[in-house]
Amino acid sequence: MKPSGFDPTRLEVAAFTKAGTTREGVLPLAGMGRLAGSTQVAADGSAGDVTWSVQGLWKQSAGAAPEMRIRLVAHATVHLTCQRCLQPMAQDLGVDRTIRFVPGEDQAEQLDEELEEDVLALPRTLDLAELIEDELILALPIVPMHVACPQPLTSVGEVDADLSETEEAPANPFAVLAALRKGS
Ligand SMILES: [Zn+2]
Repeated sequence: MKPSGFDPTRLEVAAFTKAGTTREGVLPLAGMGRLAGSTQVAADGSAGDVTWSVQGLWKQSAGAAPEMRIRLVAHATVHLTCQRCLQPMAQDLGVDRTIRFVPGEDQAEQLDEELEEDVLALPRTLDLAELIEDELILALPIVPMHVACPQPLTSVGEVDADLSETEEAPANPFAVLAALRKGS
């Protein structure tokens, strides 16, 4: 059930962080066009959903401006093409990020470089759906591959690669001798 009056595409960051509450929901992956460009549709034709939660964090220290953060957690299963066997594969994507918001682009850029944490300029409202899509795109594997491909591979290249890993280059006996003489 959708909480009344909460629109994830128009999150009022300042008020939300100050309230310190947590919201959660489900978004259809089909609505994420940019992510859909990098993923496949499942065999049953469904794109699936992303489950997400966002928590507002507000920290007020004496004599300092309040620190505003949100913690975003999201999970989705997307469908990709394995780059080894070229068969479809399901990939779980997980996002767990804390983002700090500061007033103004300049301060955000400066702090983002100085601090370990992710800093963004405080917007009037934040499109959470877009942020979740950004984070899922970042979480995509660069080269998707099955941990173990469902079909055994018989390609020559693969066999050669396996052999060369276990094979050690034979030592040159003269080099070994020279090294022994040097050491004595
Ligand atoms: Zn594979």
